[in-house]
Amino acid sequence: MTQLIEKLKTAFPELDIRTHERMREHTTFRIGGEADIFVSPRKTELAPLLAMAREEHIPVTVVGNGSNLLVSDQGIRGLVVEIGSGMADISVQGNTITAGAGALLSKTANAAAAAGLGGMEFAAGIPGSIGGAVTMNAGAYGGEMKDILRQVKVMTPEGQMKTLSVEELALGYRHSCIPENGYVVVEAEIALFEKPQEQIRALMAELAAKRREKQPLEYPSAGSTFKRPEGYFAGKLIMDAGLRGYTVGGAQVSEKHCGFVINRGDATAADVKRLMEEVQRKVYEKYGVTLEPEVKMIGE
Ligand SMILES: Cc1cc2nc3c(=O)[nH]c(=O)nc-3n(C[C@H](O)[C@H](O)[C@H](O)COP(=O)(O)OP(=O)(O)OC[C@H]3O[C@@H](n4cnc5c(N)ncnc54)[C@H](O)[C@@H]3O)c2cc1C
Repeated sequence: MTQLIEKLKTAFPELDIRTHERMREHTTFRIGGEADIFVSPRKTELAPLLAMAREEHIPVTVVGNGSNLLVSDQGIRGLVVEIGSGMADISVQGNTITAGAGALLSKTANAAAAAGLGGMEFAAGIPGSIGGAVTMNAGAYGGEMKDILRQVKVMTPEGQMKTLSVEELALGYRHSCIPENGYVVVEAEIALFEKPQEQIRALMAELAAKRREKQPLEYPSAGSTFKRPEGYFAGKLIMDAGLRGYTVGGAQVSEKHCGFVINRGDATAADVKRLMEEVQRKVYEKYGVTLEPEVKMIGE
């Protein structure tokens, strides 16, 4: 490992190469053990970095803003590549926004609003990056990434750049073809429409107020813990199963919104997993409905 770190330092003198990086600092859940090596590359560093990881046979885990992740307490072996501020350029041309995968949805939605472009208001309060939002086909309040994406640039596992149309992304409910192909999202082209700025800002403010009213934003979480089962709402099933406030260690089913598991301060990933399993078991026993995690569990 020491040899590898030296090699990385020589090849990427400007890259901040961190070892034993606490992943809790990089997730909205504030949970997770250490990553062996953690980097947040610039766009030009990405291809050679992934090439070196391939040559050295180091496992690579790609993360965005960490808002949909549960990282294990044992942490992540190998190299964690955060697609973040080094790849976060946003530019507007006509009705099109081109955003680096590391750009935050909130910043991109604000850039759209400032340019008088509507259609992205739904995404302003989702605390993810463009890359994470494409991968998850993030959505809220009747909108989803699928509605606004025109095309996406990805890097293939072989290090080639490829442009995928929205159809090729195979976007479905919290699903895209990105993980199964091992692609890294690099940039997205978003097609919006002209709309008066006051109307955009008013809708964004309305949706933000709804979030504050309904969601436990005062606690660390990873958003909705489970996907919406067809014909049901996960939060309502959990509440009706009598699990409001149900607690395992530092993890708790939010009393404000039962669809969220929150970290009351010192939750471990093991607490969250145990709690999720209990919730799945009780909801299945009572309603015969299988709850599928929306949160991505990663790490050893
Ligand atoms: C308070 C709160 C509210 C939320 N509300 C919503 C909501 O309304 N709607 C919604 O859909 N989600 C919501 N979420 C969940 C989360 O914000 C979204 O899933 C978001 O799209 C994740 O983006 P991220 O950058 O944080 O990705 P991460 O959590 O870092 O990663 C998520 C997945 O995407 C992959 N990934 C990330 N970036 C890339 C990339 N560049 N290339 C390839 N793979 C990548 C990761 O490997 C991982 O599998 C909420 C979360 C919180 C904490």
